Amino acid sequence: MDTNSSYRTPVTLLGLGDMGTALARAWLAAGHPLTVWNRTPGKAEPLVAEGARAVATPAEAVASAAGPVVLCLLDDASVGEALSGTELNGKDVVNLTTNTPAQARQRALWAEERGARFLDGGIMAVPPMIGRPETGGYVFYSGDHELFERHREALAVPAGVKFVGGEPGHAALHDVALLSAMTGMFAGITHAFALIAPEKDIDRARFATLLTEWLGAMAGAAHGIAAQLESGDYTEGVASNLAMMVTGNGTLLDTARGQSVDPRLLTPYMELMRRRVAQGHGDEGLAGTVSLLGGE
Ligand code: NDP
Repeated sequence: MDTNSSYRTPVTLLGLGDMGTALARAWLAAGHPLTVWNRTPGKAEPLVAEGARAVATPAEAVASAAGPVVLCLLDDASVGEALSGTELNGKDVVNLTTNTPAQARQRALWAEERGARFLDGGIMAVPPMIGRPETGGYVFYSGDHELFERHREALAVPAGVKFVGGEPGHAALHDVALLSAMTGMFAGITHAFALIAPEKDIDRARFATLLTEWLGAMAGAAHGIAAQLESGDYTEGVASNLAMMVTGNGTLLDTARGQSVDPRLLTPYMELMRRRVAQGHGDEGLAGTVSLLGGE
């Protein structure tokens, strides 16, 4: 436990890919004793030169761990493979490998059965953001809260930390929910650039600035949707109602046709809005479309 300014929690890290290497460097730079293991041993060499201790097997790494055992491997299968044959009893396992909520829950049970404490994490950053707090990168954590608090200081070295609950799958769920929203945003950006593609006199860089400003302004609508989902009144505080938006969608589709652009990235969502209006909810905002996707 980090209890005073001179003591640094020893960290054990399994996985030295792009992300694992960035994590390793952040802990080394902050003065944490670091033990590393990687399936391809050569990747540990530069880190050993920077002060890390490399071990030959995951079993050796786990056995010598006096602090958190952090995993940053390709996927859940590689976590299972790396940890098979290790003695986890009494160890603190922190899994930063991207996984599904179901895999995280399963892995938590698996670790518990072996006598380990378990925390799952979802990294909301790319390697160049690690160890650079000014970039705003962070990691969602869920699972054993006591374990999170015990190692909070060490965990906060590579990136910010956000604990999102005792349910081990919730870090992965938050991670994937944000990435899914991002995917929809990229679909919209792709469509927008396709619309202007034939127009050589529109400056792409200036258009990108307009796009980012507009998307930033509109993203705040998520708060209104959240408030409506909480209250159950989907007409509360509606500034742009669904009926109006569905009419506006016709203009969006006509323009796509006029620019010879395939509207496939937009039409599934437009169809959902149309269905909600057809159900008699034209006076609502967007919250009602959430229920059409299931998940409740
Ligand atoms: P890399 O592909 O660079 O590295 C993968 C790592 O997993 C390597 O250490 C590799 O070992 C190891 N590995 C793969 N299969 C096995 C196996 N069967 N047994 C043991 N080790 C194995 O990926 P990253 O470092 O970029 O990503 C690691 C995790 O971080 C992933 O879950 C990723 O989703 C997540 N992440 C990555 C981000 C990024 O931008 N890079 C952003 C956010 C999350 P070897 O060197 O031997 O191949």
